[in-house]
Amino acid sequence: MQEIFTKVLGEMRTKVSDFNYKNWFQNLSWDFEAPDQVVVKVPSKFVRDWIQSHYLELIKFELYRQAGKEFQIAFRIDKKTTANLELFAETQAPANVEPTVAKIAEKPSSARHHMMTDGFNANYTFENFVVGNSNQLVHAACQAVAREPGRSYNPLFIYGGVGLGKTHLMNAIGLEIRRQNNNWRMLYVTGEHFTNEVIHAIRFNKTLELRKKYRDNCDLLLVDDVQFIAGKERTMEEFFHTFNALYEARKQIILTSDRLPRDIQGLEERLTSRFGWGLLADIQAPDYETRLAILMNKAEREGFILPHEVGDYIATNVTANVRDLEGALVRVFAFASLSKMKVNLDLAKEVLQNLIAKPQIKLTVESIQARVSDFFNLKIADLKSKRRHKNLAVPRQIAMYLCKIHLSASFPEIGHKFGGKDHTTVMHAVQKIRKCIEGLDEKIKADVKTLEKNLGLPL
Ligand code: ADP
Ligand code: MG
Repeated sequence: MQEIFTKVLGEMRTKVSDFNYKNWFQNLSWDFEAPDQVVVKVPSKFVRDWIQSHYLELIKFELYRQAGKEFQIAFRIDKKTTANLELFAETQAPANVEPTVAKIAEKPSSARHHMMTDGFNANYTFENFVVGNSNQLVHAACQAVAREPGRSYNPLFIYGGVGLGKTHLMNAIGLEIRRQNNNWRMLYVTGEHFTNEVIHAIRFNKTLELRKKYRDNCDLLLVDDVQFIAGKERTMEEFFHTFNALYEARKQIILTSDRLPRDIQGLEERLTSRFGWGLLADIQAPDYETRLAILMNKAEREGFILPHEVGDYIATNVTANVRDLEGALVRVFAFASLSKMKVNLDLAKEVLQNLIAKPQIKLTVESIQARVSDFFNLKIADLKSKRRHKNLAVPRQIAMYLCKIHLSASFPEIGHKFGGKDHTTVMHAVQKIRKCIEGLDEKIKADVKTLEKNLGLPL
């Protein structure tokens, strides 16, 4: 049974964002108590409620898929289970109460993460998809396919980086077709799932059933993250024949991948070329306006009241993908709810400080001097002076050391910028600090490390 649990968690990992996985799933443990009952151990009431309102259907669905039967799910609050983030530990909720925000953030929403029996996520509709410059072409292509499956673009191949909405759009097509006509037999799988099915079929002599399922009894095949099959010979072989059978029968095929077919290493040439027979549509990272619109849209659906300055802050700083954008939003509201504080710019900054990378400062002799003098509470002039008091000499030497190690500056150049010192002084300083670090002078070592971190240098 624990094996099933591991598999379910594995599926969760692919279905929810990394952020959400870490927050809600990573530290869960489960017991199978009665034959049909699973007890999920959670660290706090808050985690329980959140999982219940957001992920219960998904967990049930995956359990069903992995175990082949339905389970009752109960939750137990187990203080020994540690929450991943202290912020979910629910211990020091301050008395400063702002009940409305807490209610809003914890309000269970009926439709969230609702999985339907065929594996589609009911939230991933066209309606919930925000269209902007970065995705309008692919969005239009998906709508065309949903209108006339098998006739517009076949296959439709959607590619783009993680968290940009590929799975969402693919789901939207499926849901839309389902809405129009329930007779379409659709199969929605991930590349990984398909691979596992092939392995299973081979092992248990069930390849005929597999073929029937994918080639004969399917009008529309959606394979998410198809790049996963690359390098797996039997799976690619099976997929090749499936593709041909469906294509010839004018059945619609929709694929997503994190890159173009020709960039997928280990993908057979005959598949690479077939994947390009229809339309290759790319999806790109959204621009500021689209990011803000996505945040507002998401907030509205979750019942959050998003102050403009907070939306602006997140949209300005979280730029890589939509998944992180949504993760940041949820994090801010979850934190506010837990700590019973009001959502405002200060809170958002505080909560997101670790997620939002600081803009890289350009490394120069001057910027190193500024950081070092700051760190030791000195003036830059002190670093450049000729005074030899230990409280000045060591920081000065550290600053010189950092300049030499991390900039391609010469000894004389550095000496010049430290108040016109001789290059031998700089050489001596660099040697001395290096020896201190190697000789395990803990204090200097730690200071240098902290400074390097402050300067944004990799450790
Ligand atoms: P991918 O499959 O490309 O890695 P997903 O489709 O899983 O990305 O999208 C990640 C998250 O971002 C999902 O919650 C999805 O609903 C959301 N999302 C992505 N693009 C949009 C968009 N344009 N409008 C609204 N939500 C979006
Ligand atoms: Mg995806």
